[in-house]
Amino acid sequence: MPAYPENNRTWQILQAAERGGYAVPAFNCYNADGVLGSIKAAENLNAPAMVEIFPFSLHFHGPEFVKFAAAACHAAKVPIALHLDHCTLPADVYTALELPFDSIMVDASTEDPEANIEFVSKIVKMAEERGITIEAEMGRIQGGEDGVPTVDMEALYTEPEFAADFMQKTGVHYLAPSFGNIHGPYPPGGPEKYWQLDRLAKIKELNPTIPLVLHGAYPIIPDLYKKTVELGMRKVNLNRNLHDDYLDYLKENIGKVEMTGLQENSIALWVKEAERCIKMLGCDGKAGDVKPIV
Ligand SMILES: [Zn+2]
Repeated sequence: MPAYPENNRTWQILQAAERGGYAVPAFNCYNADGVLGSIKAAENLNAPAMVEIFPFSLHFHGPEFVKFAAAACHAAKVPIALHLDHCTLPADVYTALELPFDSIMVDASTEDPEANIEFVSKIVKMAEERGITIEAEMGRIQGGEDGVPTVDMEALYTEPEFAADFMQKTGVHYLAPSFGNIHGPYPPGGPEKYWQLDRLAKIKELNPTIPLVLHGAYPIIPDLYKKTVELGMRKVNLNRNLHDDYLDYLKENIGKVEMTGLQENSIALWVKEAERCIKMLGCDGKAGDVKPIV
């Protein structure tokens, strides 16, 4: 049995991406449709992938939904990890550590730096005992996301030197940098205007072995994504773009199509968009790169 963190599914998926120089999508799911659609897309393209949920689902759907999502991900024909995104409240982190998540994002960036290091170090230790790995946000990724509280504060970018120190002191496995990325729709000019790729390059230079995570990736701009993948992004969180066609179909067909057809047809649109993301990030056909769990 390999030792922690080598025996962790998210770790295996993101290390393979690091070696291969590609990124893996993390699909934000709000219900069983999303979980099933994301798994189907990954299986169709023989791709590694991640399914992630918000703490919202811990409360709204409860622990049994997490167990269902984990069982579905882990039974897939390709490596799929279950991740908890933006876990802000310590109480939610402690709840999540007792559930079958492969990884958890600890979002403690609103605390002062010393308290942040202390809290995150403690969580990493607890996670290690449970075989879970940890992603942390450095700086503050602005904006609101459905399921995440809106943040109204000035942009706080990740300082590369500080990030390196933080990663070393806490033992966090994956870093979500703030380099001008924003949750939700961007103001005029879009990501092209706001993303500081030189800052991202410096962050990677000082954290060469750490897989980076891209938040605030809407709208989808394939060429810009590719640049960030070249600069070390290994996990790309995807949310709004998955819902657009799926919800439009439901809006137009609820009450007209039977429940079975409604689910089949709407999930097919989720699958189509998820497949597009997999191809864009370059992880199609890469399932075999991920070392099997012994
Ligand atoms: Zn995010």
